Amino acid sequence: SIMPATLAAISNGARAGILFKGGVHLENLAHVKAIAFDKTGTLTKGMPVVTNVIVHDKYTEKEIIQLTASIESHSNHPLAKAIVRYAEQKYKEPLKQPESIQDNSGWGVTAKMNKAEWRIGKAAFVGEKEAKTFQQGIFNQLSEEGKTAVFVQKNDEIIALIALKDIVREESKKAIESLKQNGIYTVMITGDSEKTAKAISKESHVNEYIAECLPEKKVTSIKELKEKYGIVAMVGDGINDAPALATANIGIAMGEGTDVALETADVVLMKNDLPRIAEAIHLSKRMNRIIK
Ligand code: ADP
Ligand code: MG
Repeated sequence: SIMPATLAAISNGARAGILFKGGVHLENLAHVKAIAFDKTGTLTKGMPVVTNVIVHDKYTEKEIIQLTASIESHSNHPLAKAIVRYAEQKYKEPLKQPESIQDNSGWGVTAKMNKAEWRIGKAAFVGEKEAKTFQQGIFNQLSEEGKTAVFVQKNDEIIALIALKDIVREESKKAIESLKQNGIYTVMITGDSEKTAKAISKESHVNEYIAECLPEKKVTSIKELKEKYGIVAMVGDGINDAPALATANIGIAMGEGTDVALETADVVLMKNDLPRIAEAIHLSKRMNRIIK
């Protein structure tokens, strides 16, 4: 049966915008040693904007953007939505319909359109070597600025790079700092490239970052953190975070996240409010003192 102190703490949590799906999670949270954060949509706003469009001489920016947006309009990825928004705002022309399209989660999209095969996605998806040498290595420079590169490949040739920047949430730094002051180790986990991850990890002040994570690697990273630190929490918002949320001792979902993340999590932050995590830990420690 649930103790009065636990019930009181759960209801205090709810009033503060932290929903616990059971007393056990509230108890565990007091003992958390490390917290892993997804990057996109968790530490950052999850609303990237197009900042640079670099195209091969044979094409115009308009051609590339209209074509890429036509294909990306079939993907739900935040980068895809940002490219579609950019096309709509800049050119205000209807998009075309690709002949076929395939969304490869964690990599990008492939499509058939205008009698060609298209690949749109990260460097490793279009060929790391070609990506790195495209236009005198502009990829490197943009990544160091914390931007995410989306490459456009037609048949076997990279013909454009679209760079996007997602802004680190104002409250992320504050939340991370207060967790660190409480002796908690903080890690950012992302599918994004090494250099972009490094830049964003600096902006958000986390102790460590793990880049180029496919959903399976997010899970192994959580397992490794558990071995190293003991009780580990994971904070995420996306469908591809769900396996990692389930693997962590405590899965924490952002309230504006996807349904799958909300269902898998043990704790939900009702607003996307990261500083509430430190509050929840205080609540948990207070409650455990009353119970014992
Ligand atoms: P994150 O963990 O940062 O949210 P994902 O695992 O969703 O990232 O994707 C990893 C990377 O794959 C992205 O940073 C992006 O470069 C690429 N990618 C995935 N889906 C798409 C898409 N629809 N269009 C372009 N790039 C994509
Ligand atoms: Mg995310």
